[in-house]
Amino acid sequence: MARIQIPRGTQDILPGTVEQWQYIEAKAREHFRRFNYQEIRTPLFEYTELFQRGVGETTDIVEKEMYSVKNPRSEDQLTLRPENTAGVVRSYVENKMYGSPNQPTKLYYIGPMFRHERPQAGRLRQFTQIGAETLGSSDPSIDAEMIAMVFRFYEEMGLKGLRVDMNSVGTREDRERHRTHLLAFLNDIRHELCEDCQSRIDRNPLRVLDCKVPKDQELTKNAPSLLEHLSEESAAHFASVQKYLTALGIPFVVDPRLVRGLDYYTLTAFEIKMAEIGAVETLCGGGRYNGLVAELGGDDMPGIGFAFGVERLMLALQKQGIELPVKTGIDCYIVVQTPEAKEVAFTLVDQLRRAGVAAEMDYLDRKMKAQLKAADRLTAQYTVIIGESELANNTVVVKEMATGEQKEIAAAELVNVLRK
Ligand code: AMP
Repeated sequence: MARIQIPRGTQDILPGTVEQWQYIEAKAREHFRRFNYQEIRTPLFEYTELFQRGVGETTDIVEKEMYSVKNPRSEDQLTLRPENTAGVVRSYVENKMYGSPNQPTKLYYIGPMFRHERPQAGRLRQFTQIGAETLGSSDPSIDAEMIAMVFRFYEEMGLKGLRVDMNSVGTREDRERHRTHLLAFLNDIRHELCEDCQSRIDRNPLRVLDCKVPKDQELTKNAPSLLEHLSEESAAHFASVQKYLTALGIPFVVDPRLVRGLDYYTLTAFEIKMAEIGAVETLCGGGRYNGLVAELGGDDMPGIGFAFGVERLMLALQKQGIELPVKTGIDCYIVVQTPEAKEVAFTLVDQLRRAGVAAEMDYLDRKMKAQLKAADRLTAQYTVIIGESELANNTVVVKEMATGEQKEIAAAELVNVLRK
């Protein structure tokens, strides 16, 4: 029969690589704990409307990248989550987390997201995001703390040469003022812009500035900048975020073209980039969304968040030749000579495992030589040998592989000798 292949844009993470993922996840959890963020796990699918409202009807994600299905036997439309801010904010409102005495609410998540994109290196249809959200504070120190939190995480992973780009997209009112000027500018060059941008002008002109087509970027180089239309308060917020980042020594560049073109994105927007990873150089994206909680039916609560892709982080680590210090291999392999010795080994591995020792034995009736090879391949720290004479004396031979040192001990002592 024909073999069935993995769906395009997805990947298996196999043993040998999965240890790196576990390492990154464990490091992220520990990192977030230090910043007082708690983990939240929301469903992999939500009602489609959540993303239509929470990501925005005019975004690429909602327009063309969502995996949606109808709930069997009902008319409900469900969508595999393309991102997780909307889900977290939904849960925040639904579980009244704003009422908890611990404020602001600081949450993080780790998990798969799904987007129907054109797959390439660093761009998948199922990918993993690690992200965080802070709800209930618009203090600029929170914006700086979040940027610093990701930046420091990348630093801890050993990455160098990272760039933080940031901007302020102002408040809804700031953008209204800016929009008039922007529209006047864009209408003059409308017919020279790409097709997507021509339609963006009418639906969401700010997103024209985000276009990746080089000709469009050139044409809009001198477009009126949002930064010039910020209210005094918005400008002060942005200045304060920068002051905090400077105090922490986090390098950043203000990029007036960086936009998050949705109504409820407000003030700080940022991206972290690394030049060498090629076509997709953005490692992390984030920003403030003071209008989103209300958009999803909650009270008007401020929020800010970011997400980064683990696959892209792995690419970045590879490009910089960074090897994560992951632990592989087992502690102990028991080699046996006879079926009777195997019975003893079977109870010994059980005792070892219960004492916290990673222990293994042979299940394939291999000769002693092949078992020793198996122990080697598993990079066992200790090899334990039970031959005929050891069996007769109730002893085992323990060999420490690193030193080659070996000694015979009572079988009943083995667990104590190897106990973690
Ligand atoms: P976004 O939610 O689009 O702002 O993306 C935030 C981060 O998630 C990006 O900077 C990437 O690291 C990662 N990411 C987004 N889309 C993909 C994808 N299709 N494949 C892999 N990683 C992605």
